Amino acid sequence: MTVTEPSSLSTCTLQIERRGGRGKAGARTLERHLQDIPGVRDVDVSFRKGSAQITYDGSITSEQALRQAVRDRDVSLRDDSETPTDDVGTRSELRREAVFVGLTLVGMVTGFVTGWLNGPPLLMWVGYGVAYVFGGWYGLEGAIETLRHRAVDIDLLMIVAALGALSIGAPFEGAMLLFLFSLSNTLQHYAIGRSRRAIKSLVEMRPDEAQLLRDGEEVTVPIDEVDIGDVFVVRPGDRIPLDGVVAAGEGTVDQASLTGESVPVPKAPGDEVFGGTINESGSLEIEVTRRAHESAITRLIHMVERAQSEKAPTQRLIDRLEQPYVLGVFALTVAAIGIPLALGDEFTSTFYRAMTLMVAASPCAVIISTPAAVLSAIASGGKQGVLFKGGEHVETAASIDAVAFDKTGTLTRGDTQLTDVSVRGDVADGALTDDGLLSLAAAVQARSEHHLARATVTAAEDRSLGVPAARRFQSVAGKGVRADVEDGTVHIGNRSYFETVLGDTAVDGLEPGLERLRTLEAEGKTSVLVAREDDDDVAVLGWLAFTDTVRPDAAEMIANLRSLGVEHVVMLTGDNERVARRIADEVGIDEVQAELLPEEKVATIEDLVARYENVAMVGDGVNDAPALATATLGIAMGGAGTDVALETADVVLMGDDLSKIPYVLGLGRKTRRTLVVNLAIAFGAIALMVSTILLRGIPLPLAVVGHEGSTVLVSLNGLRLLGYRE
Ligand code: ADP
Ligand code: MG
Repeated sequence: MTVTEPSSLSTCTLQIERRGGRGKAGARTLERHLQDIPGVRDVDVSFRKGSAQITYDGSITSEQALRQAVRDRDVSLRDDSETPTDDVGTRSELRREAVFVGLTLVGMVTGFVTGWLNGPPLLMWVGYGVAYVFGGWYGLEGAIETLRHRAVDIDLLMIVAALGALSIGAPFEGAMLLFLFSLSNTLQHYAIGRSRRAIKSLVEMRPDEAQLLRDGEEVTVPIDEVDIGDVFVVRPGDRIPLDGVVAAGEGTVDQASLTGESVPVPKAPGDEVFGGTINESGSLEIEVTRRAHESAITRLIHMVERAQSEKAPTQRLIDRLEQPYVLGVFALTVAAIGIPLALGDEFTSTFYRAMTLMVAASPCAVIISTPAAVLSAIASGGKQGVLFKGGEHVETAASIDAVAFDKTGTLTRGDTQLTDVSVRGDVADGALTDDGLLSLAAAVQARSEHHLARATVTAAEDRSLGVPAARRFQSVAGKGVRADVEDGTVHIGNRSYFETVLGDTAVDGLEPGLERLRTLEAEGKTSVLVAREDDDDVAVLGWLAFTDTVRPDAAEMIANLRSLGVEHVVMLTGDNERVARRIADEVGIDEVQAELLPEEKVATIEDLVARYENVAMVGDGVNDAPALATATLGIAMGGAGTDVALETADVVLMGDDLSKIPYVLGLGRKTRRTLVVNLAIAFGAIALMVSTILLRGIPLPLAVVGHEGSTVLVSLNGLRLLGYRE
């Protein structure tokens, strides 16, 4: 799984072994080691998720070399095809954590009440014992794992602080520290679990077996053993196991699992179907086009998995600061004991103050503030059919100033219809009819994937026209197509095609033809000329015109973008300027860049980035992929859309729903505000408590409540994003 980025940088995600505990320091050590390899730019390792994501310069090193480097550190790699899973945030693991938190609370309350009522001391100590064991369990596990790598982390700090409290005869405060610390960890895992479960349900949607047709017999075969070209049968009500093309039968398919849209889609022979979707009516025979591990749904699952290991910039920064900060707190604690003692202060009160200081200065709230918010935002997007490919993109979405849209398939429905076919009046071939012209055009277009091509072929089919065979098909991106049909060459293209590709050839009837195109374009119709070349003579035969419906919610969506503070909205299209302008005016777009070749879309985005800094690009087609990669934030439309667009984008809208674009930017902004508030609470609480302790001292219980209270507060504030709606 390698994604190439511009300037020869590649990113690969290696599936590494998973380790119990938290193992953060081990991950940091491996990161540092990998970072030292020449050519490596960025590394993100998580043993908990079992993934190492490495961005590297492909001209200096290779994925192969990196895999070896990981193995050299005695870290084993898992089979890539395995879907990564993790026990953090699974229901059973969460239940266990919740039980531990509950037992900690029960133990703490028992200890406190018994002590307060002067009950039997044994009962009191059993209570506190229970609280310490269950409250410290996970923290101790993590701390030991980290210590094994000769490093310290926040878990260790919490264990030491709880033991410190115990040592000064404050078992209740220690128990409360452990209780609140494990509670906030559990809340954070709950946020992770929410987005994880969204993926799990995707995996469960895909059947493990397919009913293959072999020599007229049906055999049940596990999907991993099915090959491209095999044919399988799906009965009404069953889920389709693999991606393929309908070979026989007709029916409707519910594609909600991929697109989020529950309106069933009719399917007939030749139509594409996707694994994980439901066949609602009719029996279908389907020819496999992708193996199980390449299917659309598997790709989506991988994307989501990767999203969770790609951290937001704020979180990366905080991760880097954890180790030095924790060491700093330990140093501060030692100094707070050592210095006053050297100056002759009394031990007990000095130790007490130092313990209070250690608790107050611990950065738990800081550490939890970012993932609690960002993971909740990703999970909330998941519920709305919006797939963020990483925490980083949630933060990017917050600062978008300009948005560029592709026209066809994005602002319009992409259901292009042929509206006009007409033969040029004075064409030399007097016998050519409109239907004859259409069937010539369809012959060429049968070989093209373009939306104009599909509309042409469909129109010919609707009129039941015979379509001759075409040979030597060629397409010129953004301009037109040509192929040999019967005994001549047929050219279909726009003005630019005739002026550049055929620029050196005298074309009979070009002027009246272009004049006709202008009239049709003024009516808002995308139009092309059809010409035939025989023995070097080229003559225009006629023209075709098309329309495409503007999505009804486009205008409202753009108005919403503006109210979110987007300054500039642009349309990028390969289509004609006049047609583009009509649609732009209809939906309220500021700037139109028309008649662009795919590479010019990239240049336009670069220019927009220079002007507005943070630019989002929304597109669906293959020709949009380079622009999606260039934009600050690439948004691809449709979970069942073109593979390339899905791979390059940073955010995927599973459905074709435009209103999700303001949602993405709104969620980004809301997340950023939450991050700011969270960091302010976290650092504010620390600063306030540390300065109060140094100036006049506060009791330990107050430090525990202040410290852990702020941690729980930022966790809950982050979790609020789970409920974000537009
Ligand atoms: P868009 O940005 O709207 O998706 P493209 O770059 O795919 O547009 O195409 C731009 C223009 O190039 C079309 O409007 C059409 O004039 C011409 N063109 C591209 N492909 C074809 C084709 N197969 N047949 C005819 N014209 C084509
Ligand atoms: Mg398009």
